[in-house]
Amino acid sequence: MSRLWVLGAGQLGAMLKHAAQPLGVELIAVDIENDSNLDLAADDVITAEREQWPPTQATDQLAAHPNFVNQDVFGLVADRVTQKQLLDRLQLPTAPWQLVETAQTAAALHASYGQRVLLKQRSGGFDGRGQLWLKEDDQTPIPEGWHNKVIAEQAIGFDEEVSLVGVRNRAGECHFYPLALNLHQDGILAITLAPLARLLPLQNQAEAMLAKIMDELEYVGVMAMECFRVGDDLLINELAPRVHNSGHWTQAGASISQFEYHVRAIADLPLGPPVIKHESVMVNLIGIDYNHEWLAIPGAEVFWYGKQVRPARKVGHINFAMADRAQLLASLQCLKPMMGNWYAPALDWALQELSQ
Ligand code: ATP
Ligand code: MG
Repeated sequence: MSRLWVLGAGQLGAMLKHAAQPLGVELIAVDIENDSNLDLAADDVITAEREQWPPTQATDQLAAHPNFVNQDVFGLVADRVTQKQLLDRLQLPTAPWQLVETAQTAAALHASYGQRVLLKQRSGGFDGRGQLWLKEDDQTPIPEGWHNKVIAEQAIGFDEEVSLVGVRNRAGECHFYPLALNLHQDGILAITLAPLARLLPLQNQAEAMLAKIMDELEYVGVMAMECFRVGDDLLINELAPRVHNSGHWTQAGASISQFEYHVRAIADLPLGPPVIKHESVMVNLIGIDYNHEWLAIPGAEVFWYGKQVRPARKVGHINFAMADRAQLLASLQCLKPMMGNWYAPALDWALQELSQ
């Protein structure tokens, strides 16, 4: 079988490698700073764990390979302007937006969108970085140098945030996981819960939206769609043309994880439907030191990324997928005192959500 190469050697690349091994697929995650000559064969297949990359010896070699799957999609999704244009063209609902052009002023944006307007970098932002709320009351100005580099979005008074992770193969066969419920704190994903019975009525709507996008792009692999739920409607916040943090729960909660699905799709192996095992909780480890006591919590499945710990940096996650709801709640209660103040409201939210 041909080999799979992943552009990027962060945690997503590592988890893809971990998923590929039992399938008998050789997967090599390449650090973008790798300056060696890559031993690429003609029938090797290339994917990426990130939407964009600087030109380096490694990325140039990988990007030049004819079997770089979804090559055109990365650029399109990485720029919020072309991503939003795609959604508009497909008539899929998204937050009202515009490119902040040279002559644009905060006052004009407030006139269009109201009191609060969110500026988002066109590309390169993640975990809420590179974003700024313009508040009419504070007369926040558009920062110098941001024109043409950001889009402005209307503030959405959403009820909650959900995401859908799906997979598509070359033949157009698609599968989807149940919608996941996501809690962000300070613009960064803290906890994901899935599946949730009360989200079931939205499942068909969400699947139709993501299928439309993946079909339009003739996409191959796993794609994630982050949404705002406003009443019974879903508004697309953004897309990720790759495995996604809100799909990490599938490592414990589904027969086929999102990482395995991506490998299967890219390597053109049979997909098959995912069987959901249990209600799952994924807790991101953000700027927190490794605590080996986590391993002693019943049901805790710890993934430590081996990165240097810095504030607001994702350094791991813990999955819980448990058949017994009471045990799941007990495990989250057990985790709470180990996590510090920042996590308390997020864990309380999860406990409450699962107690309903
Ligand atoms: P990611 O880490 O998922 O890549 P990101 O930094 O690219 O995130 P977004 O997902 O666009 O950025 O925004 C981060 C969070 O900010 C969202 O999950 C949501 O909580 C909030 N947010 C984004 N856009 C809006 C909006 N238009 N109205 C209200 N809240 C928003
Ligand atoms: Mg996001």
